[in-house]
Amino acid sequence: MRKLIRFLINKVPRIYLIRFSYAFSWVVAIFYKGNKYYCPVCEGHFRKFLPYGYTDKNSDNRLCPNCLSLERHRLVWLYLKNETDFFTKPMKMLHIAPEQPFYKRFKSIKTLDYVTADLESPLAEYHFDIHEIPFDDNTFDFVMCNHVLEHVEDEFKATKEIYRVLKPGGFAILQVPVNNKLKETYEDKTITDPKEREKHFGQYDHVRMHGLDYPKRLEKSGFTVDSIDYVHKFSKEDIERMRLPENELLYIARK
Ligand SMILES: [Zn+2]
Repeated sequence: MRKLIRFLINKVPRIYLIRFSYAFSWVVAIFYKGNKYYCPVCEGHFRKFLPYGYTDKNSDNRLCPNCLSLERHRLVWLYLKNETDFFTKPMKMLHIAPEQPFYKRFKSIKTLDYVTADLESPLAEYHFDIHEIPFDDNTFDFVMCNHVLEHVEDEFKATKEIYRVLKPGGFAILQVPVNNKLKETYEDKTITDPKEREKHFGQYDHVRMHGLDYPKRLEKSGFTVDSIDYVHKFSKEDIERMRLPENELLYIARK
């Protein structure tokens, strides 16, 4: 079963996975019913989470069998739920590259004017290049754009665009994978081969590997950035029970 799931997640094109995930996860949820783990996004209880990832190393017990959330989704969700009025206050949000576990749930928030965008995902309502966001200045109260900036050609241009479309007083969540051993973000535009990119930046389609200077990079676009070690507000038991990412900071960028 585990091998089959790993195979499906890694080999089936994402588009089919998204399309069939509701049926797929319903079946899997039955196999994974239990009490040891808890997903705060869908509020499901499980015996175990699903494996996720390209290698055997650290790929176990990560993906929610019901809503397909990963550690990082659960952390962002908890922050929004516990530390903001996102779920109750009327606001206009731009969600770039909307994550599957969030999409349906955000859409159902009555007070949220929810706009989704992506280069190509069929989930999204608008399709555009993040280097040129086709919205007026000061349009959104909240922009979420996770795991995108490590893929874009010109990160500065993209973050300036996000800053531009945010209203003064608005905020953005812009998570990227950060290598805590790197003081400065590593990028090299001459590395274009997918194999080389994987070797240098950690994934075949990444164009940089972010380091500890990531918040400083965002600040260059005008943001004020809070780097929050939110995961450690939870007990060791809860971190394990919800399978939260122990080394991930949240970057809350404010205009
Ligand atoms: Zn879940």
